[in-house]
Amino acid sequence: MMPEFTYIRAKSLKDAFSHLSGEGARIHAGGTDILGCMRDKIFDVKSVVSISGLNDLKGIRETGEGLHIGALVTLTEIAENPAVNGRYPALAQGAASASSPQLRNQGTIGGNLCQKPRCWYYRGEFHCLRKGGDRCFAVAGENHYHCILGGEGCYIVHPSDTAPALIAYGAAVHIEGRKGKRSIPIENLFVLPSQDVTRETVLEPGEIVTEILLPPPAKQMKSSYRKVRARRSWDFAVAGVALALQLKGDIVSSARIVLSGAAPIPWRSKEAEDSITGKILDTANARKTGAAAVSGAQPLEHNGYKIQLFRGIIEEALITISAA
Ligand SMILES: Cc1cc2nc3c(=O)[nH]c(=O)nc-3n(C[C@H](O)[C@H](O)[C@H](O)COP(=O)(O)OP(=O)(O)OC[C@H]3O[C@@H](n4cnc5c(N)ncnc54)[C@H](O)[C@@H]3O)c2cc1C
Repeated sequence: MMPEFTYIRAKSLKDAFSHLSGEGARIHAGGTDILGCMRDKIFDVKSVVSISGLNDLKGIRETGEGLHIGALVTLTEIAENPAVNGRYPALAQGAASASSPQLRNQGTIGGNLCQKPRCWYYRGEFHCLRKGGDRCFAVAGENHYHCILGGEGCYIVHPSDTAPALIAYGAAVHIEGRKGKRSIPIENLFVLPSQDVTRETVLEPGEIVTEILLPPPAKQMKSSYRKVRARRSWDFAVAGVALALQLKGDIVSSARIVLSGAAPIPWRSKEAEDSITGKILDTANARKTGAAAVSGAQPLEHNGYKIQLFRGIIEEALITISAA
């Protein structure tokens, strides 16, 4: 049953900040994630502050700096946008692969980045580490879909399908709060359990993601997002990989390789990037790169299969992109 709460529709960002300063106040954008969290009583919510009417947070526009995507832009708008499809295909593919058409019509990019993890212990009636308890129940439990990298105490996987592509493109995230504005590389938005097991992002209470800025892509860039689910209909990534490769002829001059379904944050694999940089994009090097990505993996009892899965999809994604 849904607990009682006050619902406020913010009239401006300033209005939102003032309502968000109260204890137990939470941001509501599309509501596809937060309403489920409230129903499942994952955290206490006294008031819900809807930002959905704030026009400053809507729309996709291009400037000399790059492509600006407002935090309230829906996943459908991103997946169907010609500029995103043309220049940032991995982001379009990530947005198109998230959840179902109805949820993509409602769910926003800001909410997608700030959504809560899907671990069934965290979402269930378990007082786990992330909820202030004393243990991660996945360690000795049903851990088929948990992480193989970066766990350290808590073994969630980061759920967003857009974040890996945004990191691969070197996007920045604009944040605003009562104390002012700041812009950070999106890579620095996410928090590992070893840093703070109770939070997923560096956002301070009451801070709002207002915009994502994608820098102009270099001319020879090739990019893609590949996602594997446990079933064919909508589902979160069991394993996924976003690639953004810079090519000079046949040689990969620089690479960003970011995994989903692998770690508590979208996982930038420096090992994989180092493995392919300066090399010809061929089958042998693609295979080595897949292996490098999981060289530091520490699987739990039931998720060792993810090692082979990541090796396979990274190799496949690199070979596919080389032929594109
Ligand atoms: C059945 C189901 C399947 C799903 N499948 C996928 C999937 O395959 N891949 C995937 O990536 N996601 C998936 N999702 C997750 C998610 O609901 C959507 O991706 C969506 O984009 C979330 O956006 P929203 O606007 O609805 O977020 P909301 O529910 O409004 O908010 C989510 C969280 O983010 C915070 N928040 C929202 N906007 C901001 C902002 N601008 N600044 C700061 N904090 C903010 C809220 O306070 C809340 O904690 C799924 C969800 C469901 C229910």
